[in-house]
Order: sequence, then structure tokens, then C-alpha cells
Amino acid sequence: MYKLRPYQQEAVDLTINHFKRTKDPAVITLPTGAGKSLVIAELAKMAQGRVLVLAHVKELVEQNYEKYISYGLQAGIYSAGLGRKDEDTKAIFGSVQSVANASDDFFEGYTLCVIDECHRVANEGETQYQKVIEKLGSKNPELCVLGLTATPYRLGLGWIYEYSHSGELRSNKPRFFKHCIYELPLTYMIENKYLTTPIKVDTPVTSYDFSELTEKGRMYTLAEVEELLKEQKRLTPLIIKNIINITELYKRQGVMIFSSTIRHAREILSYLPQDDARLVIGDTDSKDRDRIINDFKEKKFKYLVNVSVLTTGFDAPHVDVVAILRPTESVSLYQQIIGRGLRLDPGKKDCIILDYTGMGHNIYAPTIRERRPNKESVEVEVPCPQCGHKNIFWGTVNIDGEILEHSGRKCNGAGLDLDTMRPTPCGYRFRFKLCHSCGEQNDVSASECESCNTNLLDGDSKIKQAKLSKKMHVLRPEHIEFIEREDKNFRPFLEIKYYDCNAEHVSEYHFFNNESDFKRFNINFLRFHLKRPELELEVTQISEVLRMQPLFRSPSFVIARKQDKFWKVTEKIFSEELSSRYLSAQH
Ligand SMILES: [Zn+2]
Ligand SMILES: [Zn+2]
Repeated sequence: MYKLRPYQQEAVDLTINHFKRTKDPAVITLPTGAGKSLVIAELAKMAQGRVLVLAHVKELVEQNYEKYISYGLQAGIYSAGLGRKDEDTKAIFGSVQSVANASDDFFEGYTLCVIDECHRVANEGETQYQKVIEKLGSKNPELCVLGLTATPYRLGLGWIYEYSHSGELRSNKPRFFKHCIYELPLTYMIENKYLTTPIKVDTPVTSYDFSELTEKGRMYTLAEVEELLKEQKRLTPLIIKNIINITELYKRQGVMIFSSTIRHAREILSYLPQDDARLVIGDTDSKDRDRIINDFKEKKFKYLVNVSVLTTGFDAPHVDVVAILRPTESVSLYQQIIGRGLRLDPGKKDCIILDYTGMGHNIYAPTIRERRPNKESVEVEVPCPQCGHKNIFWGTVNIDGEILEHSGRKCNGAGLDLDTMRPTPCGYRFRFKLCHSCGEQNDVSASECESCNTNLLDGDSKIKQAKLSKKMHVLRPEHIEFIEREDKNFRPFLEIKYYDCNAEHVSEYHFFNNESDFKRFNINFLRFHLKRPELELEVTQISEVLRMQPLFRSPSFVIARKQDKFWKVTEKIFSEELSSRYLSAQH
């Protein structure tokens, strides 16, 4: 009938184990081409009750169904668009729209609901998925809900589940899916020769500048894309010439070009060899479309330009160049586009990915994180000093790859309570805002203390207030000097001088006479000034501090208060406490 690959068997085993322990909805992440239909087939076989496999479009319902029955298994379809409403088979493949409107009887007897492309399930509200799951759950409170996706993220939402199988808390906010049970990286598929090796070329000759679109962090309109392309019109002929050169130089068989808009696609087509290129757009008649795709598969022409992504039902294994000329707002879309070139084909060694978007997506680590703080930032691995979890943060490294600094605030590690299957977050904070009334460590962006509800001023307000007061002085340090000195009793102390660009300065003083002095310095200075707070270095001598200077960072602002004739440093504001607007306005 069929035989599972080892990783498919592993995914099935882990799924069964999970649902034995809890009925929390869970996700399996498999890259495109990993053969999810075999996983579905095996789970359906093992399920005690009936199995409902949902998808959001009829093409996907049909494709999943066809694969399933090709293994010699029985199943039904419930989809108005496909003209079939079976209700009796153990396994039903349904489109969510049709199933949501099915009569109550339909929902009887299911123990497992599988949702394909589950990153589309919205987190809350009255969606069709929620409606279906509610109805299934009312018939069987023990219902298991399993989501499948290649990309477990959603634009504007981030990770679609809370807790990963690697022990990481992926979301602090509630998600419909609680766990990710299994995650297969694309590298595994490539290394084990299940998929073709992609060779990615970023900005092969030049690239469009779509940064204006991504900065908004939302979906953008066609009109916005059109406008940007109009401004950058001169780039398109260069880009197409480059695609043709690469195709000819490396003797490529099939080239898929993804364009932004219909106008853009037509323009692209006009620069390609006329007899060797075709165009498929959203409103291409389905007969024409099928003919074009067939001719492409039979290698009657080389360049296929398309606007709406050719995904469902489209499979041309010989594609060995993928050229991206459209902004790819979601990781999921980007992965789908790349996926077009990764199918195996006799004689095909690799697939060249030409990315002209300048967006710098990473094929292998398409993770959703906060925006890259600046161009020098790379992903760094930062082990938590409390739980050992290896956090991935944005950071900077030196020429030897050693971490210099990172922007991590809180450890993402979490332990799992095996009885309840609920994660307990580690909670270690790398950076925090200290509550002055109770000592609680709060997130740097918190406006109220988690523990005692005291108002916590943000950095911007502290500076604004200080600037209004005659007794306060606000200084923006450009340079810091560490000086070892002695008081009149010959006791050594450390003076730290903060100079601004006018060589004006304020100082703070630290003594190192006893235990409590060391402690005070470690808490008040080191914890905040260390570029890598997780190193938890402690010092007992001034000479040690002097040696450690390269490990310290500078505050963005120093606030001092006038006491008699002197200025006393009362507050230091670091970059993470300031709004980006405030930071950049001051530069
Ligand atoms: Zn931790
Ligand atoms: Zn507090």
C-alpha cells in the first residue's frame, strides 16, 4: 500500500503520544514536499473514530484526497465547489466553507480533525475553522485537532503556537494551537536527497527596493506596489537580462518568474525571448492555463512568468531557476515560491534562486523575530544562565564569531509539566526595568510594575521631565572614562566619567572596601552595563573593572541631579528603554 519514511513515522508516533496525554490542539511543521499526505493517511488509519481533513480551497481538498486514495484507501469529499458531499466514510476531505455550513448530523463520530495549511486558522473570533471545531467538539469533547503547515507563522501574529518541541516558549500570548509536536527542517529534506539543493543568489545584479512596504508590518495594496515599481522602472530590463544570462550560462531547463502585478508581468514578458516565454495571470482562462502549464512541463518553452502564485495543483519538477521579482510579505508565501524549484527531477542537480526583492529572506531559517535592529545584526545563540535554554536573538559578533552584544530581553526557555502538558516559562530577564518601589524586574517596555502596579516611567518621559527641571542635568555620553583614585584616607575608589560631545561631564563613584560595596557595584553597575548580562561577571577589585572596559556598553542618556555644589548621577537610560523615535531624533 505505502511505506512511511522514517521522519513521517516519527511525526505520527509523536502525534499519537501527544494526544494520549492531552487534547490541546497541536501543530506538525513539515516543509513542502515532505509528504504530509502519508502522515495524514497513517493517522487516519490509526484513529479510532472518524477523521476530518480540512483545507481552505477546493484545489487543496482535491489534491489531498487524490493522494490519499492513491494509496488504495477509502475516503469521501465534502465540498460544494467539488460537487460532492459524502458523509459516510471514515475519512472525509472537506473544504472549511462547506463543512462549516453542514447540518449537525455531519459532525457525529469524529475523533480527529486535521487542518491543512493551518497557519490560516485565525486566533480568535467567529471564523469558519472555529465554527467547525466547536461543532465537532460539542459532539466529542475528546476531539483531537492537528494542524499541518510548512510555515507556522502568521503575518501580524507571529508564531501560531505557544510551545515548541525544543522547549521554547514561542508566544507569550494565548494561541489556538498550544504545542508544536514535530518540526522537520528543510535542510533535512535536502541533505537526505528528498529535495533539490537551492542555490540562493541575493541581489544577483541589482534589486528593487521594497523596504517601504515591509516597514509597515502589514499586507500592502497592489497600488502601493505599482507605485514603487513605477519609480524603479529602469531596473526591470536589467534584471530580466540577468535572468537570461544566468539561464544560458548554467544551461537551465525551466525558469519561473514571480512578478508583482499584471502590468509588471507584461513588462517582464516583453523583455524575454518571445518564442520561449509565456505568462499566466489570475484571469487566464483555465483551459489556456492548463495548456501553458503542460507546454512548460514538456519544455516547449523555458520562461514562465506568473502573478498569482502557481501553487496548488502546479508541479513542474524540472524548474531549476526561480526568480523572485515581487515583494514576499509572508514567510509562507516565500517558502511556497521557493518550493516550486525544489522537486527532484532526473538530471537536475540544484535550483538557482534569484532574489531581486532585496528583502533578504533566509531559506533555511524562516523564523519570525522582531525586525533586525541594523545591518550588522546577525542571529546569535545565547544560553540562559538560569535554565540553559539556547535562545536565538539578534546580536553582533566579532571577526571570530564571538558574541559582542545582543538584544535579547527575556529567556524563551520553558519546562514542560508532563501531567498537564503546560509549559512553565523560565522567565530569566537579560534586560529589565527595575521597579523602584518593590524591586521587581519588569520588561523594559512595561508601563506598570507586574508585581505592585506602580507606574513605571519610560525612558522618553524620564528625559523629558529631567529637562524641565533646573536641578536636573541630562547628558548624552560620547565617551566614558574609568579612573582609579584615592580619597583623603587613602581608600581607593573608582570614578566613572561620562563626557558628552562638548567635553562636559558628570561622574559616578564606587568604593570597593567590603562585601556590600562589591555587591552594590555588581547590581547597580555591572548588570546594566555589561553588553552580555548573561555572563553574570562579578568583580571585587577596581583593577578588574578597568580590564573589563571593552565588555561595557554606554547608556544613551545620563541624568544627574544637583546636590549642593555637585551633580549626582541619579539615572542612566539605555537604548532599549527609549522609543525608536526618541533615539533617532536625538542623533
Ligand atoms: Zn532560561
Ligand atoms: Zn513594583
